[in-house]
This record gives sequence, C-alpha cells and structure tokens, in this order.
Amino acid sequence: MRYSYVSHLECPKCDLIYRKDEVHHLCECGSPLLVRYDLEALGRDIKPDALVEREQNLWRYHEWLPVEDTANVVSLGEGMTPLVPMAKLGKEIGLFHLYMKDEGMVPSGSFKARGAAVGISKAKELGVEEIAMPTNGNAGAAWSLYAARAGIKATIVMPVDAPEITRRECVVAGANLHLIDGLISDAGKTVAQAVKDFGLYDASTLKEPYRIEGKKTMGLELAEQMNWAMPNVILYPTGGGVGLIGIYKALLELKEMGWIEGNLPRLVAVQSTGCAPIVQAWQDKKSSSDYWENSETQAFGINVPKAIGDFLVLDAIYQTNGCAVAIDDQTMLKELHTIAQIEGAFICPEGAAAFAAARELKNKAWIGEEETVVVLNTGQGIKYPDTVESHPPVLKKGEPLTRP
Ligand SMILES: *Cc1c(COP(=O)(O)O)cnc(C)c1O
Ligand SMILES: [Zn+2]
Repeated sequence: MRYSYVSHLECPKCDLIYRKDEVHHLCECGSPLLVRYDLEALGRDIKPDALVEREQNLWRYHEWLPVEDTANVVSLGEGMTPLVPMAKLGKEIGLFHLYMKDEGMVPSGSFKARGAAVGISKAKELGVEEIAMPTNGNAGAAWSLYAARAGIKATIVMPVDAPEITRRECVVAGANLHLIDGLISDAGKTVAQAVKDFGLYDASTLKEPYRIEGKKTMGLELAEQMNWAMPNVILYPTGGGVGLIGIYKALLELKEMGWIEGNLPRLVAVQSTGCAPIVQAWQDKKSSSDYWENSETQAFGINVPKAIGDFLVLDAIYQTNGCAVAIDDQTMLKELHTIAQIEGAFICPEGAAAFAAARELKNKAWIGEEETVVVLNTGQGIKYPDTVESHPPVLKKGEPLTRP
C-alpha cells in the first residue's frame, strides 16, 4: 500500500500544475501552491476504521501528507492533541457544547510544530540543506528544533519584541538567529534577500507548500475525535492564516472522500483589534486584505499586518458562512485569567482571544446555545509569562501566612 497519495501541486489562483518531486515555492503568478492528492484511490483503499489502531500522532494520516518515504519522517510525536470539554466556561458563556482543542500539548509548545514536522520532513525528502524563515517566534522555534533533528541548518529572523522564550528555543537548537527592529513583514524582506544571496530554501509562511499540510492535520484529528460528525463552529486565532486554511482544506478533502457530510462548520477567524486586516476585509466584503499600519498586540502569533494567503482565509470564511472578529488585548487577557481560574488551563493569549470571540458571538446570537463549538488554543500559556502579573507576599522564616 502507498505511504502517501500525493499527486501534484496546484495553484488555487491560476490552476497551473507543478510536479511533486521538485522544489517549488510560489506559483509564477505569485500565489501560494496547494498540495493535491489522489483522493479517489485513497477513498477506495482506506476506511475510517483503519485509523483506529494507528500511532497517536499526526503521522496516523500519512496518506494525506506529502512525505513519500517513511525514512524522511522527522517526528517528535506531535499531534493527536486532546479535545477538552470546557463545561464550566461554556455554562458561564451560555454555550452547552464548548470544547478546546489544546495545541499547547505539542513539542515546542505551539501548533507550529505540526507545520514544522511535515515541512521539515518534506524538505529532507527534497534534499534541502538549509532553510530560512521570518517568524513571530513560535514558528522559528519549532522549525529550528525539527531542522536540528533532521540535520538541516536553519536561519531565522524574528522581531526583537517576540516572546523571549522562542528566541531561546532557536538558540538551543543551534539555529542561526537574527533579531530585527521591526515586524514580521520586515523580517520577511530580510529573509527574501538572504534566500537570493545565499541560495537558501525559503520556508516563509505559504512560500513553501508543505507547512499547511501539517496544520491540516488539526482538521483531520478534529473530525476523527468527533467521530466524523462536524461541530457547528470552529474559532481560530488567525495571523498568517495557515491554521484556518489548513483546517478548511482537511474538511474539503474529507468531504470529497465522503467521510464527512452536510454543511461544513462555520469558520471564524479571530484577530486582535491592534492587527485586524482580515476582519477589516471581511467587514468590507473584500476578497483580499490591505496592509495593517502600526500593528500591535500582546498576542504575538497573530500580529501579521498582511498575510500572503489572505484570499484563501477569506474564501474559507465566505464558503462556510463564517465570520471574522477582532478582540482587544484587555478582553483577551481577562478571558485568559478566567479560563485558568475556572478550567485550570493556562492558555496562550491567541487562544484566549478565540474564546473571547466565542463569548462575543454568543452574546450577539451569532452562535446558538445548543451548537457545538470548538476553539483552537494554539499554544502554551507558559510561553508568555508576561501576560500574568505576580506579586505574592514574601514571608520571613516562621512568619504566618494571611488568607484573603
Ligand atoms: C502562529 C500562531 C497563530 C496564528 O497562526 P496562523 O496559522 O499563522 O494564522 C496563532 N497562535 C499562535 C500561538 C501562533 O504561534
Ligand atoms: Zn498561479
């Protein structure tokens, strides 16, 4: 039986086709490329039951992934993250079927490990020796670590004010790390130049086609974990948009194979009011976004002023009757504290924004109380210690404590 059913790469804008066994980045028209599979053969050869006995990580879906030789799989056991019922929070919000898919539980502490695992594995298969990428922190951390495991060199450029721990993750993995006094878009320009000057493999968001395939596995897992019955709404904190595009792609592939039926979940892109290009475009009913000037938010993973795949994110929203919501940092941090205090989960600010959006959409009756709602928490709260203040009293030895 075939390990992968990958067939070719395709441009979603101009429909040009590219071979699967060569290095490709963007289409000649400038659009990101999408990986296509022989879903007909796959649907014939595999049935949902075949998955039950498989390993508890994202490689359980290897037929839907682009890596063709198991020898090239670079894995730290990523994936199959828990789908956690959030009953108390749901009750407070007025949503009776609220779940969190917790992506904090993957290596490197964010869902970026999924894209890195599949992207690095495929890079290895294509014979790549050195990758380069701009990052807001988490992607650089994950790609540095997986590159180290694969024996591939990594050059990373991130903004100076990205979460400090992500810097250290790059350093400990031996990456060639540079900081830049600017945003991820500025880091992107530096990387593009380095790619040209030194012939590096450009692993920037959507400039290589395989990261999205790794992120797609969130959608495959969710479908399997819900026993192939889809939730009504999925909320996703959206920066570059690869997570949302990936989940949408997974659902379309499963639908084409007949594994899921009916309406797809309404997809919600959640951004920060300090950086909301997709929300603005959605409100204006546009099919692409404009560069967001002076963007700023504590939710660093979603501080992306202009996403190269914006048109794909907006398409996923329109096609599923979804929407886009912006949350301010104060509301986001309040939600983060509430969730830790009533559910015991210390989530990342991006994930907290998505929960705050669920609350807002319930209040506006855009989500009904009986609907099944899944929020993606994209990373670990402990990667962002600055979101919480801590000034506990310091006791002298023998001094009794006080109680509030
Ligand atoms: C990167 C990131 C996001 C945004 O993901 P995209 O796929 O770029 O939209 C959200 N949350 C966290 C924690 C991230 O690191
Ligand atoms: Zn094209």
